Amino acid sequence: MIGAVDIGGTKIAAGVADDAGKVLCKLETPTSGVRAYTDARKQITRMLRESAQIAKVEITGIGIGSTGLVYPITGEFGDMDFFPEWKGYNLVNDLASAFGVRAALENDGDASALGEAAWGAGKNKSRLIYVTVGTGIGGGIILDGQLYRGADKSHPEVGHHVIEASGPQCSCGFRGCWEALATGPAMAEWYKSKLPEDHGSAKELTAKEIFQFANEGHELAKEAVAREAHYLGLGLANLINLFVPEMIVLGGSIMKSLRLEDLRKVISQGCRFVPYEQTKLALASLGEDANLIGAARVWHHRFGRGTSQTI
Ligand SMILES: [Zn+2]
Repeated sequence: MIGAVDIGGTKIAAGVADDAGKVLCKLETPTSGVRAYTDARKQITRMLRESAQIAKVEITGIGIGSTGLVYPITGEFGDMDFFPEWKGYNLVNDLASAFGVRAALENDGDASALGEAAWGAGKNKSRLIYVTVGTGIGGGIILDGQLYRGADKSHPEVGHHVIEASGPQCSCGFRGCWEALATGPAMAEWYKSKLPEDHGSAKELTAKEIFQFANEGHELAKEAVAREAHYLGLGLANLINLFVPEMIVLGGSIMKSLRLEDLRKVISQGCRFVPYEQTKLALASLGEDANLIGAARVWHHRFGRGTSQTI
């Protein structure tokens, strides 16, 4: 029975999941109350113990998925946008000693990729890329059943490949990254910039609202949706040209509204030198608990039986 911890920008969730990736119990806390690492560690420990108690199980290992720059092998936190004070702390060691079990940490995009590959939409696919599109674009790459790591076991940032070099400024230093063009906020920003100056409503529309407007036939909203599909599709086409994965699993809030066929259309306009038809596009299937399930899978991927054959 694996204790799972998902550390996100707005909340931290902790719970217990069985060997089939089913979450038996989970608890959550907003990140606003745990900016200091010691507070977070205490809350996470408490939530894990309570979840185990409620589910009447014993935690035999702990998996963690976390936003930000993390060092998966040492278990240390690096520069974290949301938790600058956590740098240098080691939650893996702290939880392992608190519970007397082995623990493992991955970036949350990698954790979700592992979860979807083992128990979700990407089951039985050994070459898979997971992409989540919401307020940012993140993901993880699985090659030959193993999580792909870069130099120093680093996590590649799919959201920061450049799609349009003269595009909007991105937080990473470049202009026109995938993340600067195809996230929900990027879509909302573009929509706002196209509204006439004297537009009465000062209301900031969300991507979700723009999708709704488009469905109701509003021209500018339809244009915004077409633009979103174009830029998201271009980024996927790049991944297909570079990796030709068997599947790309798509998650995140934007994917609740965008149609896969619109993305396929963009991909089919290029990619003619690779068998792009063989890359299936699928929606993430683990639902609301996807991140927590991914975190549980982090433990299995690191320590589980037959890890070289299975995800
Ligand atoms: Zn960038």
